[in-house]
Amino acid sequence: MLNIGSHISSSKGYYAMGKQAVKLGANTFAFFTRNPRGGKAKEIDEADVAKYLELAQEQDFAKIVAHAPYTLNGCSADEGLRKFAKDTMADDLRRMEYTPGNYYNFHPGSHVKQGVEIGIDYIAQMLNEILKPEQNTIVLLETMAGKGSEVGRTFEELKEIIDKVELSDKLGVCLDTCHVWDAGYDIVNDLDGVITHFDSVIGLDRLRAIHLNDSQNPFESHKDRHAKIGEGSIGIEAFGRIINHPALCGLPFVLETPNDDEGWAKEIAMLREMFIQN
Ligand SMILES: [Zn+2]
Repeated sequence: MLNIGSHISSSKGYYAMGKQAVKLGANTFAFFTRNPRGGKAKEIDEADVAKYLELAQEQDFAKIVAHAPYTLNGCSADEGLRKFAKDTMADDLRRMEYTPGNYYNFHPGSHVKQGVEIGIDYIAQMLNEILKPEQNTIVLLETMAGKGSEVGRTFEELKEIIDKVELSDKLGVCLDTCHVWDAGYDIVNDLDGVITHFDSVIGLDRLRAIHLNDSQNPFESHKDRHAKIGEGSIGIEAFGRIINHPALCGLPFVLETPNDDEGWAKEIAMLREMFIQN
């Protein structure tokens, strides 16, 4: 079974997201925990969550992958912005416990002229303040394209963050195919080599989810512009190898492609078709 889904609007709550996922042919999905530009989150409606959990079990959903607002920057030079990122993530993680055992993904941040080492320290410090031993949510660091001063452009940078976090058993990695390609990891011509490298630097047990996106830009461009599957520089054959790779095929795959619902339903159906049942 290929675990695949897309981003879904969270404005109508969990049950509506679950229903929408089913409608798209998905058995996992991603959603922004609040407006992607930040702002206040809706309080959890426990009846809605209970209905969702029942649906998820009935439909045999894989783990879902919540996404932090992409504007959070836990390694900003500005103390107020660092605090905002920390408080927002702590609140998101509190709400994630209503749907235990899932993933919460975030972009590590941008160090903006402070240097990558300071960036890594701030991110680890933030995680050390918000992770709790009793939490049932795994927090995923996303691999980044290396646009501007993004932290997380190499597997080594993510590993450094993980090593500085005390409760690192609460951490994993979400690999974004567009980002790693733009960052200079050749998943088209040497997927095995990239996976082996990930394993030797971070460890494959940390790899928990895949953001499945084609790229509008060439290899190693450090740009981060997602394209529809098969319509970018990564190409359809590479996606066939990615979803069928034995080290990846059980993970939740999340589409963040520039699409509407109809486009996502088509991509999901196409990828299911390309998945070799075993
Ligand atoms: Zn992504």
